[in-house]
Amino acid sequence: MSTKEGSRGDVCTLVRILGESVRPGETRTLDLQVARLYTRTRVEIPVVVHRAPLDGPVLMVLAGVHGDEVNGIDSTRRILTDLAERPLERGTLVAIPILNVFGFLAMQRELPDGRDLNRFFPGAPNGSLASRLAHALVTEVLPAVDVVIDLHSGADQRYNHPHVRFTEGDEGSWAIAQVFDPPLVLRAPIREKSIRSHLNHLGKRYILFEGGKARSLDEDAVREAHRGITRVMEHLGLWNGPSDHTRGTSLLTSSKWVRAPMAGLFHPVMENGSKVDKGMVLGLVSDPYGESVRQVRAPLEGHIICVNTSPVVNHGDALFHLGLP
Ligand SMILES: [Zn+2]
Repeated sequence: MSTKEGSRGDVCTLVRILGESVRPGETRTLDLQVARLYTRTRVEIPVVVHRAPLDGPVLMVLAGVHGDEVNGIDSTRRILTDLAERPLERGTLVAIPILNVFGFLAMQRELPDGRDLNRFFPGAPNGSLASRLAHALVTEVLPAVDVVIDLHSGADQRYNHPHVRFTEGDEGSWAIAQVFDPPLVLRAPIREKSIRSHLNHLGKRYILFEGGKARSLDEDAVREAHRGITRVMEHLGLWNGPSDHTRGTSLLTSSKWVRAPMAGLFHPVMENGSKVDKGMVLGLVSDPYGESVRQVRAPLEGHIICVNTSPVVNHGDALFHLGLP
């Protein structure tokens, strides 16, 4: 643990989330209330806070920003389950297993108004549903937090090989990404109005984990995130550790989509996560009548970080996401 984190003791005695104080040694489930459904049903978003007897950093594990990305929800659940057997040593864990409860109910990425929550930060108190939810998180939870791990999966049919993204130039977040120790880390430019952009402006450390795909539970992705969160908790002193060895990670400095050269049936050849050389055949697209087959080649050397799992693709569809060294 760094001296900066160690010196946070005084600040930590005032852990306030959603207007409530959480005392040392206390575990509380608080509710983030944003809006009612048109059935008048009140929607509460549970925020689980575990505070250790000793002061230390405040880590937030956030999942379900996109309502159909279930893997992160399960990784968060596993961490909360671990806490029953392995209470925190110091600091505080704030876990939000499902932020977009609305989308989760309908198994859809967006909120009921069709908006992507991750494009509405920092939000506004009187804006759209997305904007209000972002605002509630920004004003009532995030001020108490030092480090955020945000868990995601590929949208639709896109299967992400487990990797972590952090913002270019943000050394503190790069350090957390290395502690997380995924197979690959992608340095990504900032996306305006995302939660990442908001936290970056505040100077808080933030990493985004990508693994598996939406509407699916992928054991590899869930386990990779669970391991990474555990490692970060040990690094920050929330748990004693380390409990395993560092494998080492490869840094990717940019990325590029490789698209379908024609419409047809899609046959991936290279495995997700593979390191590929320029010109290598990544997959094939064939027309259903057996008359033509086109090869999909790597335009550059890199690692495959996402493969489209759709059996049928349109001309120009994104097939492979290449992370570049
Ligand atoms: Zn997502």
